Amino acid sequence: ARRRLVAGNWKMNGSLAALAEVGTIAEAAARATAVDVAICPPFTLLGAAVAAGKGLPIGAQDCHQSASGAHTGCVSAQMVAETGATLVIVGHSERRQDQGETDGQVRAKAAAAMAAGLIAIVCVGETEAERDSGAAVQVVEAQLHGSIPLRAKASQIVVAYEPVWAIGTGRTPSVFEVTEMHAAIRAKLTGLLWSEGEAVRILYGGSVKAENARELLRVENVDGALVGGASLTAAQFVPIIEAAN
Ligand code: 13P
Repeated sequence: ARRRLVAGNWKMNGSLAALAEVGTIAEAAARATAVDVAICPPFTLLGAAVAAGKGLPIGAQDCHQSASGAHTGCVSAQMVAETGATLVIVGHSERRQDQGETDGQVRAKAAAAMAAGLIAIVCVGETEAERDSGAAVQVVEAQLHGSIPLRAKASQIVVAYEPVWAIGTGRTPSVFEVTEMHAAIRAKLTGLLWSEGEAVRILYGGSVKAENARELLRVENVDGALVGGASLTAAQFVPIIEAAN
């Protein structure tokens, strides 16, 4: 059985003061013994979040594919690992859009994360236009094909399915759509990674809230959630952790 993971993506939000939330989230995570929990704050807060979390897994939201070098403003996976962080999100749709990241770059970043001993949370998801045209499953399969490192182990990667049109909109796909997509992702992962693909956790992300978490987490092949806005405060995030536990 796959152990659930509920990860919070703070995006470009948070501050040293906001790390009080991490302490409260860590206490709830320690009580929720059946689920893994992680918080992914901005780079500048990683070290402080590791300290505030007292054992709560902390992740970054991106890393560079190279170990070091002339890449002004970038942060390598080794640098992330040195803060005490243990995960990194790669290929989030906001980076695919804002920074123009390609599947090939996302795969290189995931491979760099694995080499640094980090768990890579590889994000995929279709746009609204792609879903409307009936291409959602093909789009996500192609993203997986291009973004998942060959020979990745289930202990090294997590896939997050985040439909772009569900992020920050309050809209979520239907249970039918989530069931269909997560089944397609599972099939693609087993095609790419054989038995390891069966054990890779597949998270759902996009407008996850306390009110819809239980229904989404009941869907087959939904092994957890990647939560944006509702991960910023313990008051909103802890009920999602409890729903997954
Ligand atoms: P929201 O939960 O705010 O919709 O964001 C989802 C997301 O992009 C997490 O990575």
